[in-house]
Amino acid sequence: MPAWICATCGNHYPDTGEPPPACVICADERQWVPSSGQRWTTLADLSAAGHRSDVREIEPGLTGIGADPPVAIGQRGLLVRTGEGNLLWDPPGFLDEAAVSAVREAGGLRAVTASHPHFYGSMVEWSRAFGAEILLADADAGWLTRPEAAVTTWSGTLPVLPGVTLVQCGGHFPGSAVVHWADGADGGGALLTGDTIFVTPGEDRVTFVWSAPNRLPLPERAVRGVIDAVRPYPFERIYGGWWTPVLRRDARQVLAASAERYIEFLRGEVPVDGGG
Ligand SMILES: [Zn+2]
Ligand SMILES: [Zn+2]
Repeated sequence: MPAWICATCGNHYPDTGEPPPACVICADERQWVPSSGQRWTTLADLSAAGHRSDVREIEPGLTGIGADPPVAIGQRGLLVRTGEGNLLWDPPGFLDEAAVSAVREAGGLRAVTASHPHFYGSMVEWSRAFGAEILLADADAGWLTRPEAAVTTWSGTLPVLPGVTLVQCGGHFPGSAVVHWADGADGGGALLTGDTIFVTPGEDRVTFVWSAPNRLPLPERAVRGVIDAVRPYPFERIYGGWWTPVLRRDARQVLAASAERYIEFLRGEVPVDGGG
């Protein structure tokens, strides 16, 4: 029997005869259920519909693993490669043999993790393929919809590999995290943020959301929590949850300025009546 996959969020559920009655992730206020009702799919159905893995070299040491066409929320995973093993971050709900082969050729997988429950995706399939540890923020671990023995929980910060650290930021979910990758951006450092920090289309700002599809903002204390969590780390670049946009340079300064502007809007300290 195949694992059931929620067609809206891409999360995997246990392989049972019938799909579950609902997707707990999409029933939550941060996600959404189609007005026509919950839909389920499987890896075989997605392959038959023409989905294929999409593997791209992004910068030295970083490989993107997405699906073409994209599946569900459409995030592309990131494989951070080090001399002591690799970490897979935010894997999409779809994977195929070509993606697994690409990771095998890149040295396999030590651990798989995600920024938050919307992007747990195919973590369990990846863990099984490589015997890789699943790392989940303790605060969100209850959202794993396909429970597995290989789960290790963490909170605060977790060094995973040399120069690769998980940092709990909270906000969108209590366990929302980023990866700090010290060797990224030619040694300037990079953050992999999923939607813990959203990069905006002009690639010159970032923003924050409690719910992206339902357009609900993140409260000020949570925005400040994100900023405080990443303050100790040098970084020049931010990779969000999708192939683009990418905040390519000056990311620390852009993050600080974007957060201050966002908080001005939360507080109503801006003209909204046509004034200058
Ligand atoms: Zn769902
Ligand atoms: Zn999300």
